[in-house]
Amino acid sequence: IKIKITNIDIPVAFASAFEGEIIRRGDMQVEFDGSRVDCCELVQTKDASEVEDHKIELIGPDIDEFEVGSKHSIAYVVEVAGKSMQPDFEPVFERKFHSYLNCIEGVMHTGQRDMIRIRVSKEAFNAGFRAKHFGEVLYAQVKNEFEAVVDKCQVKIYTNPEDCTKIRHEIAIPVFDKRDERLSTMTDESVPVYYSCIMCQAFSPSHVCVVTPERLGLCGAVSWLDAKATNELDPNGPCQVITKEKVIDERIGEYEDVNEAVRKLSQGALDDVSLYSIMEKPMTSCGCFECICGIEPFSNGVCIANREYAGMTPLGMTFSELASMTGGGVQTPGFMGHGKHFIASKKFMKAEGGVARIVWMPKELKEQVAEKLNETAKELYGIDNFTDMIGDETIAEDPETLVAFLTEKGHPALGMDPMM
Ligand code: SF4
Ligand code: ZN
Repeated sequence: IKIKITNIDIPVAFASAFEGEIIRRGDMQVEFDGSRVDCCELVQTKDASEVEDHKIELIGPDIDEFEVGSKHSIAYVVEVAGKSMQPDFEPVFERKFHSYLNCIEGVMHTGQRDMIRIRVSKEAFNAGFRAKHFGEVLYAQVKNEFEAVVDKCQVKIYTNPEDCTKIRHEIAIPVFDKRDERLSTMTDESVPVYYSCIMCQAFSPSHVCVVTPERLGLCGAVSWLDAKATNELDPNGPCQVITKEKVIDERIGEYEDVNEAVRKLSQGALDDVSLYSIMEKPMTSCGCFECICGIEPFSNGVCIANREYAGMTPLGMTFSELASMTGGGVQTPGFMGHGKHFIASKKFMKAEGGVARIVWMPKELKEQVAEKLNETAKELYGIDNFTDMIGDETIAEDPETLVAFLTEKGHPALGMDPMM
């Protein structure tokens, strides 16, 4: 017999009304920030004998041992067991954590995987909110929402920086990499359907992601396989099957069936979207994109900034400034939020000529995507070590210096058709 947990044992309220709540720096008791220190969230499928239902463990100091306003590491691992549980469902549960933790009054959560940020307000702290309460919420919600496949669930919360570093690098990242690897052999042409995702409509009411094998959701957390698993778990849930039989324009990746789905799912706010263009009917952006790419007119290319990058871009804007003009579920031709893995995709800006348009990205991001991006550029254009031609903040933070560098390197974007 499965029992719905209606009362979550936490000292503050839990309701979807709190999902959009913003906690400002001055109002926060503590912050866990995966862009600065090691953090991660992870679901692991275990044998029933390894899981003690409703066991919540805090390993490391609690919130009251942290200085007011300080930044810390956190890693929480939700271990589940169940006869019908499949490892394919793990990323689907993980993606829901964003919404679960945001429903807590006085808690704000952004991001996913090892790039999460959580703020706990002073008010919630004063009401008695502590680290174990994250576990209570995750436990209750996972059991409630996934009762069909989860029989037992326990949560381990780590707050020691050494533990978090170890879990992030030795357990979580290899798991994330393995998931991404599975997708790398699939193409948009090789699958019969795509999937929609509307999980972000709580924040961006008209936002719809169209998820394909070669284009994951812009949050970076929902791949085509994840969307498929989400649909299997809950056929009436946030991910719906989208057929792709009525091609309108192959070049930009526009389909009548995709448009119909987007129209319906955005309640009429969006008319049409393309899958492969940032200039023509680009997909909308909510707020949780891993990266933003924006048109750089002097070089005929695009600059990409990732969330972790706090510096300036040659567009004259930082990531947050770009984010404020790109988000909100509206189409902004020339600017688009996207997942990190989309950068090396053969479908990245395919309509505008593909990855050859990339002229700048932060050094760290460039290093992260180099191997795959170089492979793609070699395959599409026969260029070796393409990333050596791409600028970064150590080379240029303004368009003039950037163009001089690109000219010296013979970057292909300089010879391509103007984008505007
Ligand atoms: Fe879904 Fe897109 Fe939101 Fe990711 S960004 S959760 S894919 S709607
Ligand atoms: Zn989002």
